[in-house]
Amino acid sequence: MSIDADAQPPATDRNAALFERAARVIPGGVNSPVRAFRAVGGTPRFIARAEGACMIDAEGRRYIDYIGSWGPMILGHGHPAVLEAVQKAALDGFSFGAPTEREIELAEEILKLVPSVEQVRLVSSGTEAAMSALRLARGATGRHTIVKFEGCYHGHADALLVKAGSGLATFGNPTSAGVPPDVVKHTLVLEYNNLAQLEEAFSRHGREMACVMIEPIAGNMNFVRASLPFMRRLRELCTAHGALLVFDEVMSGFRVALGGAQSLYARDLPGFEPDLSVFGKVIGGGMPLAAFGGKRAVMEQLAPLGPVYQAGTLSGNPVATACGLATLKEIQRPGFFEALGQRTRELVDGLLGAAREAGVPMVGDCEGGMFGFFFADALPQNYTAVMATDKERFNHFFHSLLSQGVYLAPALYEAGFVSAAHTGQHIADTVAAARVAFRGLNG
Ligand code: PMP
Repeated sequence: MSIDADAQPPATDRNAALFERAARVIPGGVNSPVRAFRAVGGTPRFIARAEGACMIDAEGRRYIDYIGSWGPMILGHGHPAVLEAVQKAALDGFSFGAPTEREIELAEEILKLVPSVEQVRLVSSGTEAAMSALRLARGATGRHTIVKFEGCYHGHADALLVKAGSGLATFGNPTSAGVPPDVVKHTLVLEYNNLAQLEEAFSRHGREMACVMIEPIAGNMNFVRASLPFMRRLRELCTAHGALLVFDEVMSGFRVALGGAQSLYARDLPGFEPDLSVFGKVIGGGMPLAAFGGKRAVMEQLAPLGPVYQAGTLSGNPVATACGLATLKEIQRPGFFEALGQRTRELVDGLLGAAREAGVPMVGDCEGGMFGFFFADALPQNYTAVMATDKERFNHFFHSLLSQGVYLAPALYEAGFVSAAHTGQHIADTVAAARVAFRGLNG
C-alpha cells in the first residue's frame, strides 16, 4: 500500500502533545537520542503501528518507512511468517535462563551464512556485542590498544565513545561526559579510508594493538564504503602485527548481502576474512538480539571455557531467536537479495535522477537493502567529508518528504534502509515526493 496524500487525515497536535508528555518522564522525550529529531528540528512522530513498508503515527498519518527500525526490518513490518514464529515462541515461554535448541539453530544458521564465523555467542544489543568482542580481542591477545575509525559507531560502550582530536591519529578523546579519559586512553582513532595514516599507526603501535574495529560499509556516517585497497592493507597489517580485525556488521550483516559486507570483500579479495564479526539488527528481525563470533581459537577464550568473562540474563532469548531465525530463513529465499538490491538501486537512481533534473547536486550509493545520499558533488570517503555536505539542504529535504508521507532517517549522517515490502509504487511515490522537495531546494 502506498501513500495517497489526499487520503492522509488532517494533522492534529497529537504527536506534539505526546512529545511534551514524554519529555516529562523520559529524558528528551525519547529512549534513544536520534529519535528526538534534534539534528533536523521539528516534532518526532510517535508511531502507533506499522505494516509492510509503512508506519502509521499517532495522528493516523501514513509514512513510507526508510528507517526500518534502523535496519532490522528487512522484510518489512509484520511479515506473516515472522509473526507466526514469534507468536508460537511466546506461547512456549518468554525467557528461561537456560539453553534452548533454538539458540543452536540460530548459531548454526549464522555459521552457515558467514564462513569466517566458527563459533558465535548471542547477546541482546549491538552495543553489548561490540563491547564483548572488544574485551575478547583484548583477552585473547593480551594487548590493550584498540583502533577505531572516526564516523564509525559501535554502540555506546565507554571505550568506543571516542572521537579524533585535532591531530591526525589520536588516542582518547571521549565523545560523552561520564567517560573518564583513563578509560579511552587505549583507543586510537583513525580517519576512515586514510591509508597513509593506517600505515603510520601500525608502524608506531602495531605491536600493542589488540584489534582494529571497523564498519566495512559505514552506516553511521550515512553510507561510506571502506575502499578495497584500504581493506586489503588493513587485513595485511592486522595479520602482520597480530592484531585482530573485527568487522562490525551490526548494520551491514545480512543487509548488504546474505553473507554481509565481508562476503563482498571476499569476492574481490580471495580468502578475505575478518577475525571477529559483530552482528545485530537483521539477525533479531526487530527483537533485541545481537551476536559476536569468529575463529574458534579466539571464541574459546570466553567463559565458561576461557578467562574472558561475558554473560547475559536475556542472551539467546527464545522469542527473539524465533524472530531472528524466521527472518534469516526468509532472506535466504532464492532471488531475495537480487530483488532487494534492485529495489534499493531503483530508489537511489530515482532520487539522483530527480535531483539532476532539478539541478540539485546530489550523490548516492547503495548495496543490498542499504543506501545513502548526500547533497554534495562527490561521494564522501570519510567523516569530515560527510559532515561537510549540505546540512541545510538535507534538513529541508527531510521535512519536505516527511510532510509528504516519506520517512527518512532524521539526520544526514544516518544510512537508509529498503525492505522487501517496498514496491515499485513506494519508490515511485518517494521519487515524486523528492521532485516536489527539489523544487523548493533549487536556487
Ligand atoms: N554497531 C553498529 C554498526 C551500529 O549501527 C549500531 C547501532 N546503530 C551498534 C553497533 C549498536 O547497536 P545497538 O543500538 O543495538 O546497541
